[in-house]
Amino acid sequence: MTETPIAAGSVLGAECKQRIAQTVRHMVEAVGEDATRRGLVDTPARVANMYDDLLSGYSVDPVVLLNDALFDVDYDEMVVVRDIEFYSLCEHHLIPFFGRVHVGYLPRGRVVGLSKIPRLVDMFARRLQVQERMTQQIARFLNDLIRPDGVGVVVEATHLCTAMRGVKKAGMRMVTSAMLGGFRTRPATRQEFMSLVAGRTEEAS
Ligand SMILES: [Zn+2]
Repeated sequence: MTETPIAAGSVLGAECKQRIAQTVRHMVEAVGEDATRRGLVDTPARVANMYDDLLSGYSVDPVVLLNDALFDVDYDEMVVVRDIEFYSLCEHHLIPFFGRVHVGYLPRGRVVGLSKIPRLVDMFARRLQVQERMTQQIARFLNDLIRPDGVGVVVEATHLCTAMRGVKKAGMRMVTSAMLGGFRTRPATRQEFMSLVAGRTEEAS
């Protein structure tokens, strides 16, 4: 019946995607729609193919992701990568939350390639998530990986589950942070990081 083929799953696998498609078809029918009408007939397969992308973070192998991306350098000042865009799915409502991640660390002889940090963020964002846990996961992973003197992660996000339903406050953003090592124990380090991150926030607003 469906015209859009369910593409071979790169992440979720064909059987998993068939089950997602079937579930979506049931949802469409449950709200009283005709699942065979033109606009909807391909929707279950389309949604299944989409989730293969949106949930691809489960299948990323961090060792492969970061292969060859660690460098030994004689640099011990703070490294900050800010405004990393991300899109995730709230595990309570299965609709998006999205925004920006700011990452900082104090290297101890070892840094990670700049392009890898956004991919690391994606690895944790492209899952069923809650913002608090995602923030912690990014911080802990970086900490374990490069063994720095400290790591700070700040996530600012808009949640469609509060914008579209519930309290319906579209402009509301949630801010979470995770501070490890020197970012937790030294107020001056934390302050330096937060001022570098806040600088952008003030410019943008
Ligand atoms: Zn939610």
